Amino acid sequence: MDKFEETILSMWGMTREEREESDEKFAALCTCPSCPTYTSCAKNARELLFCLTGKSFLCIQEEKGCICPSCPVTMEFGFRYTLFCRRGNEKTQRYEHGLWGTKMI
Ligand code: SF4
Ligand code: SF4
Repeated sequence: MDKFEETILSMWGMTREEREESDEKFAALCTCPSCPTYTSCAKNARELLFCLTGKSFLCIQEEKGCICPSCPVTMEFGFRYTLFCRRGNEKTQRYEHGLWGTKMI
């Protein structure tokens, strides 16, 4: 079991309030607004924390690089993947890569 799996497992016991508090804490650390891929549409929709919540809802169409690897949330969770706003959260990408054994474009 790697760091991401351990961290997710440890969150299973959280109450809804604790989970919301945790999401708020990590959203405050999210560096997406400084990324070239991030858009004003995403900003206006207050989209953040794609690594946990999943893809952007129609606001991000182009991949222009990803600064997730240097984000403190990546250090905290030990993410293996990037470009979450376009390709899905860490859990989804792990599932899809495991299923098809290939890279999602
Ligand atoms: S890893 Fe990426 S998506 Fe997740 S909080 Fe950091 S910058 Fe945002
Ligand atoms: S998930 Fe990665 S690519 Fe998307 S906006 Fe955040 S840092 Fe940029």
